[in-house]
Amino acid sequence: MNKLSNSLGAADIATALHPYTNARRHEEKGPLVITRGEGIRVYDEAGKPYIEALAGLWSVAVGFSESRLVEAAHNQMQALPYYHSFAHKAHEPSIRLGEKLVEMTPEGLDRVFFTSSGSEANDTVVKMVWYMNNALGRPEKKKFLARNKGYHGITVASGSLTGLPYNHMDFDLPAIPVTHLTCPHFYRFGHEGESEAEFTKRLLKEAEDTILREGPETIAAFIGEPLMAAGGVMPPPEGYWPGIEELCRKYDILLVSDEVINGFGRLGSSFGATHYGFTPDIMVLSKQLTSSYMPLAAVMFSEKVYDAIADNTGRIGTFGHGFTASGHPVATAVGLENLKIIEERDLMGNAQRMGERLQAGLRQYADHPLVGEVRGAGLIAGLEVVADKATKRPFDPVGKVGLAAFEIAHEEGMIIRNVGDTLALCPPLIVTETDVDEIVACMGRILDRTEAWVA
Ligand code: PLP
Repeated sequence: MNKLSNSLGAADIATALHPYTNARRHEEKGPLVITRGEGIRVYDEAGKPYIEALAGLWSVAVGFSESRLVEAAHNQMQALPYYHSFAHKAHEPSIRLGEKLVEMTPEGLDRVFFTSSGSEANDTVVKMVWYMNNALGRPEKKKFLARNKGYHGITVASGSLTGLPYNHMDFDLPAIPVTHLTCPHFYRFGHEGESEAEFTKRLLKEAEDTILREGPETIAAFIGEPLMAAGGVMPPPEGYWPGIEELCRKYDILLVSDEVINGFGRLGSSFGATHYGFTPDIMVLSKQLTSSYMPLAAVMFSEKVYDAIADNTGRIGTFGHGFTASGHPVATAVGLENLKIIEERDLMGNAQRMGERLQAGLRQYADHPLVGEVRGAGLIAGLEVVADKATKRPFDPVGKVGLAAFEIAHEEGMIIRNVGDTLALCPPLIVTETDVDEIVACMGRILDRTEAWVA
C-alpha cells in the first residue's frame, strides 16, 4: 500500500491510462487532482489555488465558474437533453448556433457541420474534401499539404495531418497521403544570415515546388493553424499566409484554417485568418466555442464545397458521415451562450488589450540568460529556453529543462505547458490587468528558479 491508497490518486493510478502522459512516470508520481475552478484559477484536492495560465487546454475563454453556461446546460437538459441530426432531424440550439457561427466567421463560410472534438472535425474535413473531389470527377485530387510541428488532432486522419513525432511514432501514422512542409518558425528554421522575408520566400517556393512535383491535380487541400499553437506557439513569418493563399488559388487547392485554438479572439483578432489576412475555404473551430464546458467542434465551409457535396448526396442517396453527438443540443446551447458572453463582454477586445500587456510584459524576459525567444500574439505566448542564447543551441535532451520549469510553475501556483523547451501561456480571455501582471511576475520567478535548477 502506498500513501495514496484509499485516495482518488491511488484509484487513478490503479485504473487509468492518461492521454499525453508517461504512464510509468505517472504510476510513481500520481495525478494532480483538480476539484474546482473559480475565474482564472483552479484548486487541487488540498485546496491549493493555481492560476490556469493555459486556460485548461487553451480553451476556457470565460474562466472556470461561468454560471450562465451552467444554466444554459441545465435548461437544455430539462427541455431536450439529447437529440440527433441524422435523417432530416434538427433541434433549435444547433440551428441557432449554426446561424451564429455563419454570422461571426469571415465572409464566405456559410455552412456548418458539427462534431464533438477538433480531431473529429479535421477527420471530417479530410472526408468531405475526398467526397467532394470524387463527386467532381477528380478522384486523384486527394493529397493534403500540412506543416511540420502543426497540430490537427490525433485520430487516424487528423493525426496524420499533425506534424509532431510523438503523434506518429509507433501509431503507424501518417496513414493518409500528406506532405509536411517546413515549419514556418523563423527563429528555429531560418537559415544563418537569412532575413525573415527571404525565409518566407523560401517556404513559399518549397510549397510551390512540392505542388508541382506531386502534380497540382493530386493536391486537394492545404491545412494549417494560422499561429501554430500546440507545437510550440509559433507565429508565421510576415507575408506567409497571403503567399500560401495565392498558391492555393493558383493551383485550385482548398485552404483550411484550423482555428481550434486561434478562433474567437485568441490572437487579439476575431479569427486567425483575419489576423494574418487570408480567406479560407474551410475553417475548423472548437475549444473556445464552448469554453470547453461541453465537447463541441464545428467545420465551417463555403457554399462551393457544400454544393459539390450536396449534389452528390442527391446522386448516391446520402452523406454517409456523422456522429451520434453531432450538434448535441446541450453542447450547442452552451456554445451559443458562451459566444453571447464573448460578445457582450467584448472578450475579443479584452484579449487584444490584455494581449498587448502580456506580450509587452513577457518581452522583458528576452534578456534573461535562459530565454532564446519570446513570441506570440494576443493572449497566447511562448518563451523558448535555450542552453546558449547567442547560438540558439537547445538543451540536450530537449524538454528536460522545460519539464523542470513546468514543475516549478506548479510549485509557484501557476499551470503552464512546456512544449519541449517552450513554455506556453494561453490564459482565459477574461484576464484583467492585475491577472496579466501576476502571470508575468510569476513567469519571472519560474525562469529564475529554472536557471538555478539548470546550474
Ligand atoms: N486542431 C488544433 C489546432 C488543436 O490545437 C487541437 C487540439 O489541441 C485539435 C485540432 C484537436 O482537437 P481535440 O483535442 O478536441 O481532438
